[in-house]
Amino acid sequence: MQKDVSHAEVTVIGGGIAGMAACIHLAKAGLQVLCVEPQGEVGRTPVGESLDWSAPDLLRALGLPMEQLIREEIATYKRHVTLKLRDGSSRHYIPGDWLERPPYNVELKTMHVDRSRLDEALRIIAISCGVTVLQDKVIAVESAGRRVTAVLAAAGTRICSPWFVDASGGGATLFPRTFNLPAQEYGPKKVAMWAYFSVPELIEGTTLYADCGHSGYMQWVWEIPIRSDRISVGYVAPGEAIKQKRQQGLTVEDIFKEKLAQYPRFDHLLNAQCEISACVRSFRCRVHDRVSGPNWVIAGEAAAMVDPMTANGVTAALRHAAEASDLIIRARHRTSLPVLARAMYNRRVADVGRFFNCGIEKVLYEGPIRDRVGPLTAGDVYTVPAWTLNLVYSRLRPRGVVFTLLYGFLLGLFRASANLYDRYCKRRKPARELCGQN
Ligand SMILES: Cc1cc2nc3c(=O)[nH]c(=O)nc-3n(C[C@H](O)[C@H](O)[C@H](O)COP(=O)(O)OP(=O)(O)OC[C@H]3O[C@@H](n4cnc5c(N)ncnc54)[C@H](O)[C@@H]3O)c2cc1C
Repeated sequence: MQKDVSHAEVTVIGGGIAGMAACIHLAKAGLQVLCVEPQGEVGRTPVGESLDWSAPDLLRALGLPMEQLIREEIATYKRHVTLKLRDGSSRHYIPGDWLERPPYNVELKTMHVDRSRLDEALRIIAISCGVTVLQDKVIAVESAGRRVTAVLAAAGTRICSPWFVDASGGGATLFPRTFNLPAQEYGPKKVAMWAYFSVPELIEGTTLYADCGHSGYMQWVWEIPIRSDRISVGYVAPGEAIKQKRQQGLTVEDIFKEKLAQYPRFDHLLNAQCEISACVRSFRCRVHDRVSGPNWVIAGEAAAMVDPMTANGVTAALRHAAEASDLIIRARHRTSLPVLARAMYNRRVADVGRFFNCGIEKVLYEGPIRDRVGPLTAGDVYTVPAWTLNLVYSRLRPRGVVFTLLYGFLLGLFRASANLYDRYCKRRKPARELCGQN
């Protein structure tokens, strides 16, 4: 039997990091918030553990300062990123010391997070702010023109509210599907598989092991110390490569172990832990246009899914949540979100998502640029503008028309340069050998 619920001013669909962050911002501003999330406390394993340098401030704004997260063993410090190749060569990416000094005053540390613990901490804050969490799944969206009027949950509840936030993640993309929103996809479908290992010592950095292989499309392994004695190790490859191995009869665990066995670093972990149960996620990087409507906003991966290698997914989710909430809070006494503010939000989400996805695909995943300049230099070519422009976003907080368009122009310039250089490299023979080949 259908039951109508209409007490909330905002319905947030999805209780992942974007959804919980939006709930907290909205509830702290005094709005009545209902969050619909199907997973209970023991849900699927959340992922997104290596944060970029903009994330700590965004978490602080939610009531979780970095010092507390470290103290409570929800996070470890991340001071650098190391890129390692199969031939043993490597490069450290560390923010320059000068950034720490005035006038920049940038915090040079960020974090690795234990996502289960972080998500739980966010959930506790949300509930203490008065957010109601309904454990259910939204199965249908009712709309009148471009307005969302209600959402229907699997158990039969029909939820009406003046405002809606879709934070249902990259797999569900609820509102993009309802409104048939245009999307741009980047790279092939990919599969990530990961597991957790005990380690004796802590490394204060993320390590990425790149393997450019014979096909030229990069595969990679991550090593992220989420606690002082626990690391997350994951493998990301094109879906097609994994499918072929599965057709040969290999299990996910076989594929995962086979990959890790290529790196001496993991020998003792594989020997010490013979039973490995790997989590698996398939995904496609994509960026949607028009991610807000008269009374709704899309936040997080449901709006734009950036590649995990960028380590910008959590920051993007937290930024979307803050900006989407701000739009609703400012318009709470109106019937619709202001058209210009919506258009600027749409623009920022799309520009940033395209910048990161285009950059990482053209410069690192695909062969031409990487093979021409070498994978370690390609790492610099990607990292320097990515870190700089991400920092500029944190400092400038582009919101109005002028800053949004100016910032979008800078991002567009990098994208255009990457595309042009890619074309140039395709016409020329690779100047260097492919990395990491056997
Ligand atoms: C393999 C992998 C590795 C990554 N590594 C990093 C990293 O190191 N650093 C980084 O910054 N980012 C990383 N990311 C990206 C990061 O994980 C995501 O960007 C971020 O977690 C997205 O959060 P979200 O809340 O938008 O989506 P999700 O975390 O997917 O949350 C969506 C929520 O919505 C719920 N939901 C789904 N459908 C419905 C429905 N119909 N009704 C109600 N609720 C629903 C789900 O249960 C879920 O809880 C990685 C991503 C992947 C795939």
